[in-house]
Amino acid sequence: MSEENLQPESDKKDGIGGINILNITDPTFKEPLEDVHTANLPIAGCGWIDTKEGVVLIDTLIDPRAAEKVMGRIKGTIKCIIYTHGHMDHVSGTEAFMKDNPEVIASKYLPDRLDRYEMLAPYRNLISAMQFNIPNFDRAIRKVVRPTKTFLGDMTFTLGEKTFELHTARAETDDVCWIHVPELKAVFIGDLIIGNQFPNIGNPWKPTRFALDWAKELERVRALDPEHVFCNGAAIHFKGKKAKKALDANIEVIRSMHDQVVEFINQDMHITEMIHAVKIPEHLKRSPFLKRYYSRPEFFVFNVYRWYHGYFDHNPAHLLPRPEKEVMNEIFGLIGDSKKIIKKSEELLSKGQPQLALELLDVLIQAKPDNIEALKLRMKLLKTIGENDKCLMSRNSWHYFINQDKKTIRSLRKNE
Ligand SMILES: [Zn+2]
Repeated sequence: MSEENLQPESDKKDGIGGINILNITDPTFKEPLEDVHTANLPIAGCGWIDTKEGVVLIDTLIDPRAAEKVMGRIKGTIKCIIYTHGHMDHVSGTEAFMKDNPEVIASKYLPDRLDRYEMLAPYRNLISAMQFNIPNFDRAIRKVVRPTKTFLGDMTFTLGEKTFELHTARAETDDVCWIHVPELKAVFIGDLIIGNQFPNIGNPWKPTRFALDWAKELERVRALDPEHVFCNGAAIHFKGKKAKKALDANIEVIRSMHDQVVEFINQDMHITEMIHAVKIPEHLKRSPFLKRYYSRPEFFVFNVYRWYHGYFDHNPAHLLPRPEKEVMNEIFGLIGDSKKIIKKSEELLSKGQPQLALELLDVLIQAKPDNIEALKLRMKLLKTIGENDKCLMSRNSWHYFINQDKKTIRSLRKNE
């Protein structure tokens, strides 16, 4: 995933432009090494390796139309498809490559992931709308070709003159499978690195990811001293010194931030303080391998915290809480005046505290969800927070909720 794919649409008067990386279906093709080919879409890519006895394909892209275009480029019989993990942008195009009945290899846990996606289809449509700036409608779940062979641990096979060493791991997902091809001095590591972006360890909508195991797995990759690192499904290629530097930067930032979270958990620091206290090491802040255009450090902190820590934040008021709405209603009853809350929120905004203003305004919006003035102010706050935010996941969230408020205001006016 590179920076040019992560540019937002231009801002509007009453909102901010979102970032859409799912709307491009024309892959870019490259042949970075002899016998190695890659096809890249903004969100993910795939790669294939020619051998004297056929082709091994790694990942199958998100879009079946793009997959057809890749199929048109592959010469030789596809003998084997390997899924680096079960995220939909890596497994959705497989149908296009099944003509010669290849073996489809994946981690033992990958089919469970596909089952979960089917089970949670409506929820996943909703969160995709927030995360990816796409309309929320009842998309039928895309039927993914299931693996014909699954395994856990290490597995090696040869095809023609090349060896394929496969290793399962827990990192971005629990169903990672990365590949080492010693004859090419190359590793294909899926999303263990997402190009030049800060690792996608914390996603606000998704289950926790495996930070410590992730660092250890990258250390295992580094120990092979690969000349070529192919990531993001295979389409992003780091070579030589750059490969080593990308591995070093990712490992160090994960280890450092993970250890800070652990230390703060042991100090019983509250999570809302922790997300501001944990820092990227100074010398890595401007690393060309850790740009924060996809994920961001606060999400990382939440993620590691959730992995080690229960929901309870050690405030007795939060062990068995009443519904939030009920509590906000009581607080609002004491304040008793919408104008007072709006005035204070505007004051906080003018002092450069839009997040604090947003949380205060929430008392009013929860108590009086049809207060148009409050909704308009919230749009303004979200715009202020969002317009300087370059991170795809948070920027698209601000964008999504501005549009939700816009819709609510429109329907309230219609009913007036
Ligand atoms: Zn992924």
